[in-house]
Amino acid sequence: MNILVINAGSSSLKFQLYAMNNEAVLAKGRVERIGMDSAILTYEPSNGSEVREVQEILDHTAAIRKVLDMILHSDYGVLKSLSEIQAVGHRVVHGGESFTGSVVVDDAVKREIRQLFDLAPLHNPAHMLGIVAVEANMPEVPQAVVFDTAFHQTMPPVAYLYPIPMVLYKKHKIRRYGFHGTSHMYVSERAAAYLGKPLAELKLITCHIGNGCSCTAVLHGRSVDTSMGMTPLEGLMMGTRSGDIDPAIVPYAMAKEELTLGEVNSMLNKHSGLLAISGLSSDMREILEASEAGDRNAQLAFEMYEYRLRKYIGAYAAAMNGVDAIVFTAGVGENSAALRAAVCRNLTYLGLELNEEANVRRESADRAITTPESRVQVLVIPTNEELMIARETHKLILQQNDVV
Ligand code: AMP
Repeated sequence: MNILVINAGSSSLKFQLYAMNNEAVLAKGRVERIGMDSAILTYEPSNGSEVREVQEILDHTAAIRKVLDMILHSDYGVLKSLSEIQAVGHRVVHGGESFTGSVVVDDAVKREIRQLFDLAPLHNPAHMLGIVAVEANMPEVPQAVVFDTAFHQTMPPVAYLYPIPMVLYKKHKIRRYGFHGTSHMYVSERAAAYLGKPLAELKLITCHIGNGCSCTAVLHGRSVDTSMGMTPLEGLMMGTRSGDIDPAIVPYAMAKEELTLGEVNSMLNKHSGLLAISGLSSDMREILEASEAGDRNAQLAFEMYEYRLRKYIGAYAAAMNGVDAIVFTAGVGENSAALRAAVCRNLTYLGLELNEEANVRRESADRAITTPESRVQVLVIPTNEELMIARETHKLILQQNDVV
């Protein structure tokens, strides 16, 4: 079975085509600047080099059509006919409380995703454009949706409720949802396989540290707490997001700086985190370079970022009454030995013993960076949300075919 995975944004769209018999990527790419006459289509087949075209692509339906044209192209194509794509899987950021797992798209699912537009106004409407665009181009092909929030729907009320008036939860669904669930689920499964133990017997803390950052307590395979909340702003310090702050700062800063709601929202989401403290960049590579060159603000940004992550790891060890393994993933987690070392050097109270040499070794495979004697293992596991979406879609389509 071949599955096309789509991650649709408001003006861009990423795709990967998987052959599920061996989970190989047959082709991948993206369309940027959708809606413009100078949209950019980048397409990379597994059996050839990257193709880049600039052309008019006015909406998501046209963007999907271009992607399919490439996949079937006489020179660069990897399939002969559209019928060789048996299903499409979409990333959807917010599944609210309605979706506790991935589902096959039908009218009721689409209605429910639309109901959730308010909770994720920047993401869910764009994902819906992707779903409708696939429907327009491939009306017979089943589609599935995989939610970033679904993995965290196992959180108990003690973790997902905010201590504010219950009417806000009951009327407006204001609660903690958590994000990056597909990534946390994927690396949890990989960690169990690496450790050679059933996931159901493990206490894991998974740290997805990229542009966005979140940390999850995975108890026996289920998310029991996670650092992002009602929106992806809560929790860890990130590239441009503040993470946890005193909520009273919002009205205070608004009054003092005469900020509008939109401005304060933009300040906390786009002008905070590493960028704000370093005054330099949201990119960890640049922060590390500047730190080494002696830039004090960059050093402070790194120290705060690491400190806040370490505090969450401590909190989640407490939440689960122990931890067997800590997993680092995503851009910074997979690549920054400096961050991992700084975190691990201060977790010796857990019986954690870093293997400094393994930590700095550059490898793309799943690996441990602790000594064999270490009571808590620390693993570096490259995340692969697209593959997880393909697997979830594959599973759902097989189940559906069984039922029919
Ligand atoms: P992601 O959101 O997972 O794509 O992660 C993106 C972030 O990973 C970038 O903003 C960088 O800060 C970070 N990153 C990528 N490569 C490295 C590296 N070699 N060392 C440190 N950070 C890195």
